[in-house]
Amino acid sequence: MISDLVVIGGGASGFMGAITAISNGLRSVVILESTSKVLEKVRISGGGRCNLTNSCCEISNLVNNYPRGEKQLIGLFNRFSTMEAFDWFQKKGLSLKVEQDGRVFPCSDSSDDVIKCLTSVAKKSGVKIFTNSHVKQIRIIKEGFNLLVKGNNSFDTKNILICTGGHPSGRRLAKSLGHSIIQPVPSLFSFSTSEKHLRSCSGITLDVQVNLTVNKKKYAENGPILITHKGFSGPVILRLSAFSARNLHANKYNGELRINWLCMDENKVRSRLDYYKFVYGKKLLFNNKPFKNLPRSLWKCILLSLKIDGKLKWAEISKYEKESMVRCLTRNTYLINSRGPYGEEFVTAGGVSLNEINFKTMESKICKGLFFAGEVIDIDGVTGGFNFQHCWTSGWVAGKSIDLK
Ligand SMILES: Cc1cc2nc3c(=O)[nH]c(=O)nc-3n(C[C@H](O)[C@H](O)[C@H](O)COP(=O)(O)OP(=O)(O)OC[C@H]3O[C@@H](n4cnc5c(N)ncnc54)[C@H](O)[C@@H]3O)c2cc1C
Repeated sequence: MISDLVVIGGGASGFMGAITAISNGLRSVVILESTSKVLEKVRISGGGRCNLTNSCCEISNLVNNYPRGEKQLIGLFNRFSTMEAFDWFQKKGLSLKVEQDGRVFPCSDSSDDVIKCLTSVAKKSGVKIFTNSHVKQIRIIKEGFNLLVKGNNSFDTKNILICTGGHPSGRRLAKSLGHSIIQPVPSLFSFSTSEKHLRSCSGITLDVQVNLTVNKKKYAENGPILITHKGFSGPVILRLSAFSARNLHANKYNGELRINWLCMDENKVRSRLDYYKFVYGKKLLFNNKPFKNLPRSLWKCILLSLKIDGKLKWAEISKYEKESMVRCLTRNTYLINSRGPYGEEFVTAGGVSLNEINFKTMESKICKGLFFAGEVIDIDGVTGGFNFQHCWTSGWVAGKSIDLK
């Protein structure tokens, strides 16, 4: 028997695609999943809580969270965006909550509930799910496609939706059907530096302004940075790593990071130091930090890195020492020399070329009846629920577009 649709990959985008397609009138929809368990990435996502979308709903702001695919997502989000995803899950019985920073989680804080929701809706709708079914090869036949599955099973289908995430096999299948692949490189990682003087501050998080220069190209972000024992992490670094992912990869992960620890203008910092010299002249530098929000250990690290004796009194610091402090507080520079470990989330930048997909339908422009959704496409987002949102959106649009008439 020939299926109406075979979805390759039982992840977030595959489930959304299959459920939408069967709800839209397709009669036989099958999900083929390589491993023994579906939705495994949903399970481990968000530290086991699954940050499944974000409350950002203004499309012009929302697309700024996608280093690749920003333009293509405008049209897609006009059809199914964060609000629609939120409603979709709530209507299917999954209660959701929005955290202060806009991230959306299940009220239960358990990714298992997202999995239960998707699998029960899929099964109730009649989607057939086959695990341990790795698709090795796709052949074009008169009625559509023939899929060869590991163990020599085979499936005939009128349409295919490839939802294989960052796994190389999906890109290989797409390539075998004529698609170009943009080289996959990692995104959402921390930065390592060989400079050691900040190590005693590891574990500190604070809001900063950061500029990253890689190969003369500049990237700038504001937000929370985490000092680690190897360098830097936290939301602002993960965001920089996403926007510079390709350039950093090409430059062997070398770059220059410049941090303004206070998010303050140089002149304001200078005036504050002058004020301390004037008012607290008899007090010790170490014990009297001039900026309330600057952690004490970081203040000490900065003085030590400048070889300024913390036992000096404020009145005793020279003009040169004061200017070094201003520079270090507002333009502290670190050489990045490698990619550090991943944060809670990581994704692949790269995949099926955007030029070869019709973003009104998610259908291939090269091969009729072949559709794509999720991370297999050259689209990826920053942390905050944006990667799953792209999966729900592209899966939903593909599912709505697969029409047998
Ligand atoms: C640790 C971690 C935490 C994350 N946390 C978050 C988060 O909180 N919020 C967020 O938005 N994003 C998060 N992400 C990113 C998010 O998980 C991915 O963007 C998303 O899972 C991609 O979904 P997908 O459906 O495209 O692919 P996947 O979820 O990767 O699913 C693809 C499926 O296809 C199967 N497959 C591959 N090849 C074949 C084949 N040839 N035949 C059959 N099956 C095949 C795979 O086994 C897999 O099950 C996280 C990622 C990681 C690694």
